[in-house]
Amino acid sequence: MAPLTFHSTNGQAPRVDLKQALLAGQAPDRGLYLPDRIPELSADRIADLRGKPYADVAFDVLSAYTDGVIEPEALRALCRDAYDYAVPLEPVAGVEGVHVLRLDQGPTASFKDFAARMMARLIGRFLQEDRRELLILTATSGDTGSAVASAFHNVPGVRVLVLFPREEVSERQRRQMTTLGDNIRTIALEGKFDDCQALVKRAFSDPDLADLDLSSANSINIGRLLPQTVYYFYAAAQVAEPDEPVVVAVPSGNFGNMMGCMLAGRMGLKLRKLVVPVNANDEFPVFLRTGRYARIEPSRACISNAMNVGHPSNLARLVELYGGWLDETGCLHRAPDFAAMRRDLFSVAVSDDATRAAIRQAWRDHRLLLEPHGAVGWQGLLEYRRAEGLDGAPAVVVETAHPAKFPDEIERLLGFTPEVPGALARLEGLPEDYDALPPRYELLKDYLLERYGGARASAR
Ligand SMILES: *Cc1c(COP(=O)(O)O)cnc(C)c1O
Repeated sequence: MAPLTFHSTNGQAPRVDLKQALLAGQAPDRGLYLPDRIPELSADRIADLRGKPYADVAFDVLSAYTDGVIEPEALRALCRDAYDYAVPLEPVAGVEGVHVLRLDQGPTASFKDFAARMMARLIGRFLQEDRRELLILTATSGDTGSAVASAFHNVPGVRVLVLFPREEVSERQRRQMTTLGDNIRTIALEGKFDDCQALVKRAFSDPDLADLDLSSANSINIGRLLPQTVYYFYAAAQVAEPDEPVVVAVPSGNFGNMMGCMLAGRMGLKLRKLVVPVNANDEFPVFLRTGRYARIEPSRACISNAMNVGHPSNLARLVELYGGWLDETGCLHRAPDFAAMRRDLFSVAVSDDATRAAIRQAWRDHRLLLEPHGAVGWQGLLEYRRAEGLDGAPAVVVETAHPAKFPDEIERLLGFTPEVPGALARLEGLPEDYDALPPRYELLKDYLLERYGGARASAR
């Protein structure tokens, strides 16, 4: 079959192949890339995934997107190399059929490792083919930056600059980015995550920076989304019979993770409901209920800090999958099919108080250890069960970070500190290196031109 092509959600950019979409990140019309045709996995192939190691499931799912672009054996090697850690699926004691999928065993202990490690390997391979270099510019609310920095650390042909909001990331999150060195640089921005994201977006559309070959590793890159379809197939294969619909609960911020599940559904995975709880940034549940979209500015600071997003970038993709058109500014040009969206999705906002109560309840009633993001997911599932009932359907709650990343909160709520995984413990003694900037575009632009503008010749 011919390789897949990708179009922009804004409809004003030329179609591209997977390689071009990955290397560009955002489409030139500021839209996001989506495949023109979502490839389907047959029921037999999905049934076949049961019991396979994670890396093999990744190969089976991702080859639907890389056919004709990457040789199967090369893809298999990339999958084995990227996914060399455990993917635990923990049954929840006392609730039949409910599982927690712990996506926190990668090198930076967040689910973002899954996407970042595969994307880094794909991009590294494409750059090698073309003998090109890229500057990856990315904004993070905590976990993206560390996952991206770790994934690209020492990948030839790639330099990485990460912007993070100085006051909104934990010390450990910061250390994961600022202790790497080599081809990785970080900026502490005196602002919020939304400021970081706005500056990065502006840099991408600035013609003065065209020579820098900027690319994005945010969840706007289609290369982040595709690997995030894999764990839904993997989990469903273990907890459900083939063809038995599952309920999946995904704590959401920029909606990249839930979009992975949406795509998995369109590829053939049987979903009964996709539950997308958010924190106090409730623009999505309000949109789903009322049909009116209003971004939240500035975004609200919550303990689930990686989800402090007042305007989820992936919403443009979600709206398009339901026939609508939302542009990057949050303007709804064409309404999606809300009835279909409400049939497939369930969304609630979970306050910090409710998040803390959920951490306590999960531990007390089930000996289930959750950190704030996973607790938002758990609470979302409980509210869905209350509203619509599970009726014995298998359910999977996605835990997106390791509890040890939030030691103070867990200590205060549960009276103990979670054991720190080795990957995080190693950061403690390492020296940090980062720059600081106020949230002004001109300053970032100067920084980019100064640091990266003239260096290309010497880097070759
Ligand atoms: C990024 C992140 C989220 C939100 O994921 P989105 O794809 O942005 O919705 C949730 N939890 C953690 C720990 C994260 O790092």
